[in-house]
Amino acid sequence: MEHKDIGLMEKIVSLAKRRGFVFPGSEIYGGLANSYEYGPAGVELKKNIQDEWWRVFVRERPDMVGLDSSIILHPKVWEASGHVAGLVDAMAECRHCHTRTRADHLIENHFEAKGEKVSVEGKSEKELDEVIVQEKIACPTCGKFDWTPVRKFNLLFETHVGIVPEAQSKVYLRGETAQGIFVNFKNITDSTRVRLPFGVGQLGKSFRNEITKGNFIFRTLEFEQAEIEYFFDPEETDWKALYEQWKSAMWKFATENLGVRAEMLRWREHGDEERSFYSKRTEDLEYRFPFGFKELWGLAYRTDYDLTQHMKFSGADLSYTDPASGRKFIPHVIEPAVGVNRLMAMVMLDVYAEDGDRVLLKLPPRLAPYKAAVFPLLANKPALVEKARAVHDELRKRFTVAWDDRGNIGKRYYAQDEIGTPFCITVDFETVGDEKGGGDPAHKDTVTVRHRDTGTQERIHIGKLQEFLHGKIYH
Ligand code: ATP
Repeated sequence: MEHKDIGLMEKIVSLAKRRGFVFPGSEIYGGLANSYEYGPAGVELKKNIQDEWWRVFVRERPDMVGLDSSIILHPKVWEASGHVAGLVDAMAECRHCHTRTRADHLIENHFEAKGEKVSVEGKSEKELDEVIVQEKIACPTCGKFDWTPVRKFNLLFETHVGIVPEAQSKVYLRGETAQGIFVNFKNITDSTRVRLPFGVGQLGKSFRNEITKGNFIFRTLEFEQAEIEYFFDPEETDWKALYEQWKSAMWKFATENLGVRAEMLRWREHGDEERSFYSKRTEDLEYRFPFGFKELWGLAYRTDYDLTQHMKFSGADLSYTDPASGRKFIPHVIEPAVGVNRLMAMVMLDVYAEDGDRVLLKLPPRLAPYKAAVFPLLANKPALVEKARAVHDELRKRFTVAWDDRGNIGKRYYAQDEIGTPFCITVDFETVGDEKGGGDPAHKDTVTVRHRDTGTQERIHIGKLQEFLHGKIYH
């Protein structure tokens, strides 16, 4: 890990708090580990990323439909999916300072510090213990070497339906959104005209009892997932070609829609010990975060495992009948799954720039929390304020627009650059045709528009502003 990378993460965390993107969770109560709140700018950025994902992968594709299933599903769903038995991490606790840490992360970080890349996926508790002892890996918090034996724990959050916590009432907060898609497979094929191959996309919160601390919004207790199950007939569709198409679609989304530098991304294929037994191929699209290349987006060919499991556990018939041949079979799936919060962390890190003492988030305009900011040149001139308000009100009907009348113009530009606002619109004396204030009558009803990335300015007629912004943002 390079020193300058560590600095970048700290800068992003500080900017995120300062400008209302991301706040530490429950801060006034001393915080809650691995939880964060999305502030006024953050909620817009996150929503814009979600909207972009939904537009590209659901709305604009003729072979996709959407779904919004429940966070609390029948508990048997998670038995069928394998999460009750399988969504487990191995944990070690320091007897001295009581830091709990994931054993795999402890070991991998230890080797990474030595410049070696080691994966311990699939190793038993005993094997992990052996590595920790052999390498004499110390606690990253207190430096002591005094670990409890490694034990597994389940990441699913449990809760109860109803007020009496009886065994029968136990339910789970969903650990992924994907299972809701499988559970509704029959409802979707019965209620729409979809024909294989087709996909179902879902966006929504998932919950995992993560114990590893740090790394900002990369890994949190609750997170927004964007998942697709793409169903196909394995006899008609070549899965390898389909897999490659999804790889290209994901890469394109990251580099073109989110504007991330291609050299910061790479594919990593899971080895046999890491891949789930039912998966024929799994690859992760990884981003070079300041703490190393890490999974951003998973792509797994899951065969017919999930639908078959739900058929077994529910007794429902989830097979598909080909309308032309009448052949009945269980479709296979390819699953691209990503966390929106991880996408957001990546985007903020990737577009961060400094120009002297100016800090900029060079966000693609579609993603920017505010598409424009409107300022009256001076806050104490009612004619300027009134006109600027009118411009602001008009633009707000179509765009998310910020308002600022504090301090001088330079400070306002500085603040908007940090939030990533692509255009700053200033109403000045020329706009209101005030010759005494230095206005040129030919410029009446025009405003200055300043471009974030270049700092250049141009005068645009108020009547043309909507068209201008629309063209620049949604081209
Ligand atoms: P990791 O190995 O990082 O824990 P995973 O392999 O368990 O991730 P998946 O189950 O494949 O993750 O989930 C799909 C996607 O959901 C991940 O690629 C990631 O973007 C996102 N994701 C998973 N867990 C979290 C989390 N705790 N916080 C934020 N995003 C997450």
